[in-house]
Amino acid sequence: MQTLKMFINGEWVDAQSKKTRSIVNPANGEVIAVAAEGDVEDARIAIDVARQAFDSGIWSDLSAAERASYLFKIADKLEARAEEISRLETEDNGKPLRETAFDVADAVACFRYYAGLVTKPDGQTYHVADPMQAMVVREPVGVCGLIVPWNYPLLMGVWKIAPALAAGNTIVFKPSEVTPVTSIKLFEIIQEVGIPAGVANMVMGPGPTVGNEIAASHKVDKVSFTGGTATGRSIMKAAAGNIKKISLELGGKSPNIVFADADFDTAIDYALFGIFSNAGQVCSAGSRLLLEESIYDTFIDRLVERAKKIRVGPGDDPNTEMGALVSQQHMEKVLSYIQIGKDEGAKLVCGGNRMTGNGLEKGYFVEPTIFVDTTPEMRIVQEEIFGPVLAVQKFKDEQEAIELANNTAYGLAAGVFTQDGAKALRVIKKIRAGITWINTYHPTYNEAPWGGYKQSGIGRGLGTFGFDEFTEIKQININLQVEPSGWFEN
Ligand code: NAD
Repeated sequence: MQTLKMFINGEWVDAQSKKTRSIVNPANGEVIAVAAEGDVEDARIAIDVARQAFDSGIWSDLSAAERASYLFKIADKLEARAEEISRLETEDNGKPLRETAFDVADAVACFRYYAGLVTKPDGQTYHVADPMQAMVVREPVGVCGLIVPWNYPLLMGVWKIAPALAAGNTIVFKPSEVTPVTSIKLFEIIQEVGIPAGVANMVMGPGPTVGNEIAASHKVDKVSFTGGTATGRSIMKAAAGNIKKISLELGGKSPNIVFADADFDTAIDYALFGIFSNAGQVCSAGSRLLLEESIYDTFIDRLVERAKKIRVGPGDDPNTEMGALVSQQHMEKVLSYIQIGKDEGAKLVCGGNRMTGNGLEKGYFVEPTIFVDTTPEMRIVQEEIFGPVLAVQKFKDEQEAIELANNTAYGLAAGVFTQDGAKALRVIKKIRAGITWINTYHPTYNEAPWGGYKQSGIGRGLGTFGFDEFTEIKQININLQVEPSGWFEN
């Protein structure tokens, strides 16, 4: 099997150590690729290259329209290869083709969005005091380290790569060590469109070595990270050495609140979608379902009935609605949380097991799982499981719904279902979360800012806010009356 290589300074390279890692299809445990496994040394080489490229101005000195033209070309090529890339993402990550097709289309749209945005008017002017004119411009931050997880391997990368490059930065990108395959395809495209060598680099390898070096290096000006909250904390510490700018998109335990006056079928539909799409491996998953007392029993009955019908299977089967979890290690973590839920006394009303039969035992499949009779302090209510496990909570009124919703360390997302518009907005405004939905769950748009309150992160991705995160702000004061100030008389 040919080794998948890293992309540094415009070339495909092995790890300095020649170490490799097997990449596994989680639907059947088969090795689908062998990838170079970088280390601190490889990260340093990539960082040096990105530093030199940035300092040379080879990328930031281009006009916005020129940089945009590269991004548009990347989008076109990604779109042309969408089917192949979607198939590879399914093989690598386990999620169904219907999801990976969406992800690739989103990635294409993201490149186009930032290519368009970067050529639009920007900056501000101020009339401060005569004879001064002040203005504000945005400039690239410099070398940006971009570190992403495995749950949307391509898309999470593109959410960072597109705005970082659009803004004129150079990058060192690190995909998750378990899902590098589609990132490699993206960098093939980056090479094909002719982005100058050294501007966009990709290193692969473990977080504690390669990722930590990116976060700690004094030659990196910014680190933009998506992943777990514990890792985010470690990145903040590593980044402190040179007061690096940081953006962190971290975990969640998001509440999905259903009031008794909600449209029942719509709420059921999105409750399922909120937790079982991507097998619950979504940072913004609606992993806590908060139900108003009067509909609690009927809602759960219907939810369980529908959850049991979800077609779980290999992602490349067009009938599959929910795929495998990303790895054996992750499946074990999810199963251990299910055991914790049982031990804590929550009542299991759906699923709860690894799936076997029909060949599924070769992969890492877990049944759609629902716990009821939970209490707020239970670990399955407080902690991110990142799998197809739903914890249901009961509330009696609006006030209690808000209190329960806010009662975790996280603040990423929230949903509210009700036909009373004023109530929906009242509740949403009281919830400490950065991404919220009314009468829907999960839709995500390139135009709108993505990120969390509390321990769900710092900063925002996507939209103009996501672009700003990759810029520094400079004020320029211009004296229109060029003469001595006379402050010192002699
Ligand atoms: P993770 O934190 O283990 O790893 C994410 C990335 O960080 C990987 O590339 C990993 O190699 C790297 N990493 C690990 N340790 C590191 C360290 N010490 N220093 C630097 N880099 C390090 O997360 P994961 O298991 O890959 O992904 C799941 C997590 O990601 C979940 O908590 C999920 O909520 C979160 N996530 C958040 C968002 C969001 O937008 N808020 C989106 C997707 C996933």
